[in-house]
Amino acid sequence: MKDERVVLISALQHYIFCSRQCALIYGDQTWAENYLTAQGVLLHERVDSVEMEVRKGIRYDRAVKVYSEKLGLSGQLDLLEKDLSSGQLMPVEYKRGKPKTHLADEVQLCAQALCLEEMTGQKITKGALWYFQIRHRVEIDLDAQLRQETIETVNKVRELLQSESLPKAQISKNCKACSIIDICQPNLFKEHSNLDKYLDDLYDIDKEDF
Ligand code: SF4
Repeated sequence: MKDERVVLISALQHYIFCSRQCALIYGDQTWAENYLTAQGVLLHERVDSVEMEVRKGIRYDRAVKVYSEKLGLSGQLDLLEKDLSSGQLMPVEYKRGKPKTHLADEVQLCAQALCLEEMTGQKITKGALWYFQIRHRVEIDLDAQLRQETIETVNKVRELLQSESLPKAQISKNCKACSIIDICQPNLFKEHSNLDKYLDDLYDIDKEDF
């Protein structure tokens, strides 16, 4: 990869949620880290990784740092499972809510798997999302379509952050669940004393959809 700057995997889900939110959160910070320095840090942190346990033939490693030089990506897995009999790896990501209508969680998981594949040389065919709200684990096929969607999202995030542009704010149902709405659209608060009600009236929203 020619550009030495990295995209953080966490930026991908923010981009899918709202490109303006992604630019506001990552616009200045993503490029602060040079790819090579990031790789060095990640390698050392991997070696120093501690929290590991083995249960019923599966090894569990937590907070595993991953990177891809090819894609210019870096991030961290919540959990990495390794089947000790087959050696098969599976990334697992924990989520607060429940499965969503968009692909932000799946793309994040797939990006982690793409990094793992480059680091280990192993094909990762499945990952898992564990949703706290419904106490349910969902296995995700990391198929060609999801891989393509993930790579396209990485490229779009990179383009956005390289351009240093800030997409226009567009009020949508996502705004209700947005943690930086006061930074993005401070006037909304001034114009609408009950912002929650205003957005509820505009959209039929289940906040846990996000
Ligand atoms: S308030 Fe809405 S437009 Fe602004 S960053 Fe959040 S989701 Fe995007």
